[in-house]
Amino acid sequence: MIVEIGSAIGGLKTAVDLVRGVAAADRALNEADLKLKLLGAVNEMINAQEALLSARQVLQERDAEISRLQEALAIKGSVVRVNSAYYLTDEAGNGRGHGFCMRCYEVDHRLRHLAYGQQIMGSVVQCPSCKTNYVYGGVYPLD
Ligand SMILES: [Zn+2]
Repeated sequence: MIVEIGSAIGGLKTAVDLVRGVAAADRALNEADLKLKLLGAVNEMINAQEALLSARQVLQERDAEISRLQEALAIKGSVVRVNSAYYLTDEAGNGRGHGFCMRCYEVDHRLRHLAYGQQIMGSVVQCPSCKTNYVYGGVYPLD
């Protein structure tokens, strides 16, 4: 992103120099020279615009990531790991309810519910998002 902003600044400086050159010319430029210099300035401004649009995209993505991490930080104190899953905590700090995927929480910092199928201790429970498999006995819902 720093490169895009630097490119935009450089392009705008060149455009300004071209237009100043036209304004400061000590003799009247013929129409062809004038058009050439103005087209050069327009091209520089278009390049600068594209660079700024690219930088804006990067900033928007970065803002979204910051928001996501802030949310992750906010929920950090309200979840607890029990065996192989994370759970929301009750007032006493004990895990309650259905489990969240350990991989999604620890790697992506996102709470994603596990999809319980058979509720047998040895059966497989899969995260619908990352497809990590768990054994039901390690991630069963807590009362
Ligand atoms: Zn997952």
